[in-house]
Formats: sequence, structure tokens, C-alpha cells
Amino acid sequence: MILISACLCGCNCKYNGKNNLNEKCLKILKEKRGIPVCPEQLGGLKTPRVPSEIKEEKVINKDLEDVTKNFVNGAKEALKLAKLVDCKIAILKDGSPSCGSDYIYDGSFTGKKIKGKGITANLLEENGIKVISENELDVNFV
Ligand code: SF4
Repeated sequence: MILISACLCGCNCKYNGKNNLNEKCLKILKEKRGIPVCPEQLGGLKTPRVPSEIKEEKVINKDLEDVTKNFVNGAKEALKLAKLVDCKIAILKDGSPSCGSDYIYDGSFTGKKIKGKGITANLLEENGIKVISENELDVNFV
């Protein structure tokens, strides 16, 4: 089973109430090979919500509120789900402070990307789950 960012499957769980539908991810879901998860919602954040970025080990939203706890709790819930259904791989939305696996934003809310991982991507990898981004999905894999 493959854990997939819910927004990649077409769920409107993004901070702005929209999604990041990716047809390959939706195909995996329809074939019952994937399970969608949105760590930020699982961490208790509502949708839509104020966008957040990682800054100095903390997650801060654009209103300058510390939402680290929500992100950590969401990551733990995502890991719990991954273990329950025995996921060995996760396809997560790159750039997100939860799901990013190659890059994240630098915490300045200016759109500047830096190398780094989101809180959930990091926790999954620490627990032996391979994380790839939607950009790394090749045709053979799906
Ligand atoms: Fe998508 Fe992950 Fe953000 Fe949820 S937390 S909207 S699944 S990128």
C-alpha cells in the first residue's frame, strides 16, 4: 500500500481549500493501491487555513502563530496510518512544510525555495518509509 498526500488525489485539503490533483496518484488510488492522508488536517488544522512555513525547527504560520504542535501531531497520525496498512512507500506533495521531500519554503513567505523536508516526510523516512515526491513518479512505477 502507498501513502499519498490527499491533495494529490484531488481532495480539497490545501491551505487555500483547493487541491493538487495528480492523475498518476489518482490512478493508484482508484486501483486500491493507495491511501490518501493529509497530515495538516490530521493535526487538527482546519481548511482553509493560514499557510505555514518551517523556520528554525519550528512551523510558523503567516499570522506568526506557532503551529509546530499541529504539524508534529499530524505527522505522528500519518505514521500511525502508514504502519496500520503496512505502507513501505509514500508519494507526498513537494514543497509543503508537512509533505515536502526535496524542497520546502524558507520561512520568509517570499516564495523562496530551499532544500529540505517537511515534518511528515521526515518522520516517515526516520521510520523506514521511502518518501518520493509527485515529481519523481515515473510511468513504470504507476
Ligand atoms: Fe497536501 Fe500534505 Fe498539505 Fe495536506 S499537508 S494539503 S496532503 S501537501
